[in-house]
Amino acid sequence: MTPGELRIENVSVAVAGRALVHDACLEVAPGEVVALAGPNGAGKSTLLRTLYRARRPTSGRVLLDGEDVWRMGGRRLARRLAAVMQEPPGEFELTVYEVVAMGRSPYKRAFQGDDADDREIIMDALEALGVTALAQAPFDRLSGGEKQRVLIARALAQRAGTVVLDEPTNHLDLRHQLDALRLVRDLGVTAVVALHDLNLAAAFCDRICVMDAGRIVADGPPAEVLAPALLAEVYQVDAEVTIHPRTGLPQINVVPEPRRRTSL
Ligand code: ADP
Ligand code: MG
Repeated sequence: MTPGELRIENVSVAVAGRALVHDACLEVAPGEVVALAGPNGAGKSTLLRTLYRARRPTSGRVLLDGEDVWRMGGRRLARRLAAVMQEPPGEFELTVYEVVAMGRSPYKRAFQGDDADDREIIMDALEALGVTALAQAPFDRLSGGEKQRVLIARALAQRAGTVVLDEPTNHLDLRHQLDALRLVRDLGVTAVVALHDLNLAAAFCDRICVMDAGRIVADGPPAEVLAPALLAEVYQVDAEVTIHPRTGLPQINVVPEPRRRTSL
């Protein structure tokens, strides 16, 4: 898996005259892990969709190793870029093993079965996400967090040098949040990860890119980006940023507003 180099050049996405993403530029060096943060509706998922070709940019380009992903064959792109989407495709009448095995399809011809190498890659991916015991379970019956881990395992089995993950820690418990992000970081692949938890972003990502109302409004190392003024502006919260005494990482504490009295 050679980590890819990703360049998002002036990407805009408009639907019915409304800009969901406006003039986004982002460069991700090989092996770099970039968090994509920002409020609900900021355009994170829309921007990520342009990378894995689920939504065509209205203007601008997405380049993977200098090649426009929108001009690449589907299988070729899938061997180099794997995606873990926010909305898991529903109605999977497949077992967990079969879902993870789908990660091997870009390497196969139609109806070609899994060989020993494929099976080893699939078993390794199941193991890495701690879902080996669920291998024969129907995907549809899993909990949200289990599904999420299976979909990460599928992306892992794809053996792509670049991964795009849309809120992969959604539904995961604390332990599995850390495990999933550590796994992504330790793969040595290029990664763009939409994340709401800024403390996790600071712990596992080289950079944090913040979107607000369709635009990229900040991009830099966590310690630079995570400033109270930016958090106040983008999220409209009062947040304190301290340095964690044990990790040396920026640590965000949102100060809740005092509870209002409601009289009935
Ligand atoms: P985020 O992932 O940051 O929460 P999204 O990219 O999902 O944000 O959405 C950005 C904005 O675009 C939202 O206001 C959303 O309602 C809107 N949006 C997303 N998809 C569509 C669509 N297919 N048609 C119209 N509006 C959309
Ligand atoms: Mg989203």
